[in-house]
Amino acid sequence: MKTHAQAVVIGGGVIGCSILYHLAKLGWTDVVLLERDELTSGSTWHAAANIHGLHDNTNISRLQYYTMNLYEELERETGQGCGVFRSGYLYLAQTEAREHQLRLQAAKAKNYGFDFAEISRDEAERLHPLVDFNGIRCIMLEPEAGKVDPSGVTMAYAAGARQRGAEIHRHTPVTATEQQPDGSWIVRTPKGDIHTQWVVNAAGLWGREVAALAGLTLPLQPTEHQYFVTERIPEIAAMGRLLPSVADRDGEYYLRHEGDGLLIGAYEKDMRFWAEDGTPQDFGHDLFPDDLERIEPNVMRAIDRVPVAGTAGIKRVINGPMIWSPDSNVLFGPVPELSNYFCCNGIIPGFSQSGGMGLMAAQWMIEGEMQYDLFPWDIARFGSWADKAFTKAKVQEVYTTRFAIHFPNEERPAGRPVRTRPVYDMQKQMGAVFGLNYGWEHPQWFASEPGVTETAGFKRQNWWEPVGAEARMLREKAGIIDISNFAKYRCKGPGAEDWLNAVFANNMPREVGRSCLAPLIGKRGGIAGDFTVTRLGEDEFWVIGSGMAERFHQRFFKQVPLPEGTVFESLTEAVCGFNVAGPLSRDLLQGLTNSSLATKDFPFMRSARITLAGVDCVALRVSFTGDLGWELHCAESDQVRLYEALLEAGRGIGAGPVGARALMSLRLEKGYGSWGREYSPEYWPQEVGLSRLCKMDKDFLNRDALAEIMDKPARESLVILALEEADVMASGADATGGEPVFRDGVGIGRVSSGGYGYGVNMSLALASLRDPKPGEQVEVMVLGQPHRATVLEKPPFDPDGLRLRA
Ligand SMILES: Cc1cc2nc3c(=O)[nH]c(=O)nc-3n(C[C@H](O)[C@H](O)[C@H](O)COP(=O)(O)OP(=O)(O)OC[C@H]3O[C@@H](n4cnc5c(N)ncnc54)[C@H](O)[C@@H]3O)c2cc1C
Repeated sequence: MKTHAQAVVIGGGVIGCSILYHLAKLGWTDVVLLERDELTSGSTWHAAANIHGLHDNTNISRLQYYTMNLYEELERETGQGCGVFRSGYLYLAQTEAREHQLRLQAAKAKNYGFDFAEISRDEAERLHPLVDFNGIRCIMLEPEAGKVDPSGVTMAYAAGARQRGAEIHRHTPVTATEQQPDGSWIVRTPKGDIHTQWVVNAAGLWGREVAALAGLTLPLQPTEHQYFVTERIPEIAAMGRLLPSVADRDGEYYLRHEGDGLLIGAYEKDMRFWAEDGTPQDFGHDLFPDDLERIEPNVMRAIDRVPVAGTAGIKRVINGPMIWSPDSNVLFGPVPELSNYFCCNGIIPGFSQSGGMGLMAAQWMIEGEMQYDLFPWDIARFGSWADKAFTKAKVQEVYTTRFAIHFPNEERPAGRPVRTRPVYDMQKQMGAVFGLNYGWEHPQWFASEPGVTETAGFKRQNWWEPVGAEARMLREKAGIIDISNFAKYRCKGPGAEDWLNAVFANNMPREVGRSCLAPLIGKRGGIAGDFTVTRLGEDEFWVIGSGMAERFHQRFFKQVPLPEGTVFESLTEAVCGFNVAGPLSRDLLQGLTNSSLATKDFPFMRSARITLAGVDCVALRVSFTGDLGWELHCAESDQVRLYEALLEAGRGIGAGPVGARALMSLRLEKGYGSWGREYSPEYWPQEVGLSRLCKMDKDFLNRDALAEIMDKPARESLVILALEEADVMASGADATGGEPVFRDGVGIGRVSSGGYGYGVNMSLALASLRDPKPGEQVEVMVLGQPHRATVLEKPPFDPDGLRLRA
């Protein structure tokens, strides 16, 4: 066994082998995989190994299509069979919402060139004569989907990696991983140690145990999962061909042709956790006893749909473990707090995603960043707040709703609250309906009474009117928005200005009391973050950014060494905030402070420490609503006092609390981008209107990458679209994000955010489009159906910024 390697991959399941293969393929051939047993000995060997491309997230869909196509290439390349059968998937919609979901998928598929389209019932009956299509509203065919042989695929990745020089050692458990002072690692095994630059945790069911070797706790929880294969079914045997799989998600089961029978699996309501206190080390090629009673309701629905399924006995039952994260997506990427420790854990559709995951992992390690924005996979989306109880509650929720539709804006209740602010109970009493933002309970909107829960769907829901009332109140008078979930940092010390200048692309404010917008640039020159930096003192700056990206951004901040005597620290937990905005916001606030808020004393983009209602605040005159307003940040212990004072002052002028959903609508009216939607590492500054904030005459993080792309023409440009009122009224739905946009039937981009602009009475969307022309008409595929929309020349609200500077 080697003693040195560029990367050591721990775990020889399908994921570890794919990562090894892709590392070697992208040029790192000095890599080793260590497997404690035989390859495939975790979840991999017993998987049903269905493969499909459909996913609500477009980038994940892209990677699933890449994976499906890779398997045949792997066979050709290695000579190792992968058992690929691509007899297609039939997706069935029993409900209106499912129909909307599938039609939206079909529109996305057309935009990105994936094969996924509606077929007629006649065509479906020809493809699968044994399905009862009664009650089905629409049928989509994904012809490239199918199944693979789980062991074959894993062996093929291993063979492909070995052919390129990678080493694989079976029966070699990793017993310790020790970080060295220079950031490299020693990986210890009974057969010897390896000194490596990168450690990759791909230990599947043992992901938690391997993470613990590096002092990490991962939010993961295994469960049981069952499927069974029937005896021979004469009608199936008589077909003489492989039938397409049936994806009847509303029935909550999966079903496909296997041998001369069927394979049926289910995510049942009466689920079972496994190994809550750790995965046993002596578990290997093992299964649990059958427990088919638990999946009986799902199986009965499968038999209703495919009646021959009820005519055969059961040949084989698989009840095996799989390991889940709280939202069922992989925990992926370098651990922000460590150097060169890459996690790839908690994967549910391992066979649909293995190729894409391996490719993205290799790109990230070798090139420093992936080509796609994959925040929904990023391990940094969870912090230590995602504790054991939260993880368990969420895993139960995601397991039992595996096939339920994830609606836009939907907030799921399990495991909450985990992080609350002092005003939480007060807000609850005021009718607040909360969302989860990096663990924080955060008011989305305020119902007329406490205890109201929101409905979820693709169309306008019960929150639509109350959110409108909040937005209009702010536009006409003023509103008080809790912004405690924003990430806040302080940089203090003699080197603070230099350090911030070396991190962010914009020049730091020279004058005390001034603020600036500051993009953070990624390894490929895209937008890794957008921040507001305020100079509060000669050597003190406050930095405010996206709350959900706080752990994500740590990876960037730590790349620039802090000068001696200068500190950079998070204030997010210690500091709370409110945004008070609207034309009467100055009147509301002025009565609470002796500091003058008049524009001559406190102009736009200025800041000051002021006392409001006896509470010390950092006040920033910035705006995400597009209106006159201040952000007020105070110590968490003062939050209740400040909130009470603001609400009391607001009552006198007809102002009150406003939630985050109204804020999202208000910023649409101004066309302001938001991190994770309009701003992501996939977009270049010139594509989202941020190039003027990038100062190329100084050095900053990833400046060279930006210099390479800065002068290239925008591939797509961010625009505001106004959707045709009649079309929106007819469908009852606004755009929400993700909808493709077409020009004369040709895909030209996608919506990044959408909603109703209550202050301007327009249904709006922000979209990145190829070569957009102001005034032109395009089609936005809301619910998968064309909605006419116009590319606006200017933001519909206050285009000249007069309200902002009032
Ligand atoms: C019943 C069932 C049906 C499924 N059906 C499908 C399906 O239809 N489609 C699909 O895409 N997915 C399916 N899956 C999920 C799929 O099996 C997983 O997503 C996939 O196998 C995960 O692979 P992995 O490599 O991450 O983990 P694992 O397969 O668990 O592999 C981890 C490996 O790490 C090794 N290891 C652990 N600790 C150490 C150590 N200290 N040192 C060295 N090695 C170590 C283990 O021995 C193991 O071989 C199914 C799962 C189950 C349970």
